[in-house]
Amino acid sequence: MSKKTFLKTVIVSVAVLILAACETTNVDPIAASERPEETTDEAGLWLQMDETEKLLKSSALVENDDALNAYVQTVACRVVGPDYCPDLRVYVVKQPFFNANMAPNGQMQIWTGLLLRAENEAQLAFVIGHEFAHYRQRHSLQQWREIKNLANASLLFSMGTAVAGVPEAAVLGDFSIAARLYGFGRDKEREADELGFEFATQAGYAGEEAAAIWKYLVSEVENSDLERNRRTIARASIFSTHPVTSERIENLEALASEEAETGDTATSTYIEATGPFLATWLDADLVQSDFGKHIFLINHLLERGARQGVLYFRRGEAYRLRREDGDEARALEDYIKASTFADAPAATWREIGELQRRSDNPAQALEAYRTYLEKAPEASDKLLIESYVEALQEEQT
Ligand SMILES: [Zn+2]
Repeated sequence: MSKKTFLKTVIVSVAVLILAACETTNVDPIAASERPEETTDEAGLWLQMDETEKLLKSSALVENDDALNAYVQTVACRVVGPDYCPDLRVYVVKQPFFNANMAPNGQMQIWTGLLLRAENEAQLAFVIGHEFAHYRQRHSLQQWREIKNLANASLLFSMGTAVAGVPEAAVLGDFSIAARLYGFGRDKEREADELGFEFATQAGYAGEEAAAIWKYLVSEVENSDLERNRRTIARASIFSTHPVTSERIENLEALASEEAETGDTATSTYIEATGPFLATWLDADLVQSDFGKHIFLINHLLERGARQGVLYFRRGEAYRLRREDGDEARALEDYIKASTFADAPAATWREIGELQRRSDNPAQALEAYRTYLEKAPEASDKLLIESYVEALQEEQT
């Protein structure tokens, strides 16, 4: 669909929304397999979301890996239950920020920055539960009507078309015009937290993980290097539509303390499903060059005690690229640590070779380069590394 067609469709659907008669903001939860009646404002909202979903589907932003998609869909269906499961279409979206959302028509986006940061399946489940609660309670429709009752039609129309002019923004899931501009209010967020908590714990997940993910996110932002990055994170991530307040964290902790039984965190299943993407997702995060945030994130992931070879290597990379005082020594230490784990990438030994050569340790450099060539016989820099090996051998004789 062209940008122009998209714009036209959205303008029409915005007009439908505005022309609908003044309606109550008290709405019943949507039932499983329920669809809005034609010519209602809700049908207009759905129409608009159907259009952005078409754009999303054909977008390069969607992760197509079958196993990962199947896994995330399974977790979502476990949270929402078998009745609502067919109403839900989950898309894994390649964006390095922590975000998830669910549109009123049933499309749900889970961003890879979220999958990278969740420690376990339970944390993912609580975010899904929260987003599903917004859907089930028809919060977008309520929000739309509340704003419509306050604002005049021409203002609403310009709000709608302002969003429509940026299909990329629409695709990335600031689904309702209203939610995009105002976020859901405190009451809807509290309701989504409480219901989402209920859905996920009824599905058997450990209640204490609900607050844990938000607490982690707040501390990650605090560890960002730059004020500019802190603002970008706030704008691009879930914080823009779901402000994380201490009140929300306290409420979730209180709910968890009322849970008698201990639930499932499903940590190892989660690590297995997301592990193959760890290096790619960390790469995408490092592109932002926010080393403080990135290193904080890796330290957090290291606490899980899995994929240590990949994680120490990636932390070494962050130090190497940051180039602050002492970073070269920190990088070498991490590469050496990484090399003791079976999952360390071959590049670990190339980097050890490089740093040992520069630190005037030719014997260690030679050994590391040789290991690199053994582990990566097809490497594109093979000839270059072989020339280093030759030079080092000559030096030693
Ligand atoms: Zn929310």
